[in-house]
Amino acid sequence: MSVLVVVECDGGEVKKSSLEVASYGSQVAQMLGTTATAIAVGEATEANLALLGEQGISKVLYDAEPRLKDFVNGAYTKLIAAAAQKEEAKIIVLANSNIGAAVGSRLSIRLEASIATNVVELPKTDGGKFVVKRGAFSGKAFADVELAGDRKIIAVKKNSIEALHEAGKTAPVESFSAQLTDADFADAPKEVIMQDQAGGVLLPEADLVVSGGRGMKGPENWNLIEDLAKALGAATACSKPVSDVDWRPHHEHVGQTGITVSPNLYIACGISGAIQHLAGVNSSKVIVVINKDPEAPFFKAADYGIVGDVFDVLPKLIAAVKELN
Ligand code: FAD
Repeated sequence: MSVLVVVECDGGEVKKSSLEVASYGSQVAQMLGTTATAIAVGEATEANLALLGEQGISKVLYDAEPRLKDFVNGAYTKLIAAAAQKEEAKIIVLANSNIGAAVGSRLSIRLEASIATNVVELPKTDGGKFVVKRGAFSGKAFADVELAGDRKIIAVKKNSIEALHEAGKTAPVESFSAQLTDADFADAPKEVIMQDQAGGVLLPEADLVVSGGRGMKGPENWNLIEDLAKALGAATACSKPVSDVDWRPHHEHVGQTGITVSPNLYIACGISGAIQHLAGVNSSKVIVVINKDPEAPFFKAADYGIVGDVFDVLPKLIAAVKELN
């Protein structure tokens, strides 16, 4: 019996959220007196996969089938299910990402496993029960959920736990084949078009995000958002009304009806902080709010607040960051 951790890779590197997932999985394995094996998906290098030993992973499985480079739901599900069966994994840990959400529900049916998404803490196993804490109501509340049955799937929310880092520890990487056929790639994308993201940083994976709202007054002022993002190496985002009136493209809209982000730093410029906006950003590690209205609701969710006019504050902030670079 082992714990299986699903590790997402992109451009040869393990995604940061997957380092957290690997750390979560290896700690669960330790609690249960077993080991954690990783199954890697996406484009990876052996050297980077081996470094998952730093997060406590004992062994990494990798299928180098080139069609697995981009996400294909059917093929990924079959691959992970096959790895779970090979490792006799009773617990599967994955990221609460787009891929994790899509694959997790399919895996749950295929493996007849119970599943909890949005999990924010290590499980409690008192009294023979297996209880996880998950975020509910757009992060406004938490629920303790008992995972029943023989097999359990846990989708871990980004930024919920610290990634372990035992420098220099490596894990063996084994090639693994799930004997995938053409039929498993029936839902493969015909073409992957990368969104044109200012600064070249993709929003869902970004560690730093600079976001603008209606307080920016118009698209002609977005150079301030872009300049700050560029100076920080951040992605840009916006509130819904901003994309509704085409000041910015829809793929930059964050919130309940847009993208959910969990960066280390989210800087909100001229955004009021409506509950629907907060739903997509409130798991950011540090939130900085710039708003000229001291009563703006966003200040209640902020770690740092600047009461001021964005057209006064942003140029000073950009200059200060440029000076540090
Ligand atoms: P406003 O509410 O107009 O706020 C602008 C802010 O800028 C104000 O706080 C003002 O004080 C400040 N300001 C103005 N000028 C300046 C200046 N010069 N300097 C500094 N500050 C300034 N919204 C989302 O963002 N994402 C969603 O996913 C989303 N989903 C929704 C789903 C539903 C079903 C509904 C009903 C609404 C949804 N909304 C969503 C809309 C949401 O309710 C708010 O209307 C929206 O977030 C407000 O956007 P805003 O803060 O940019 O604009």
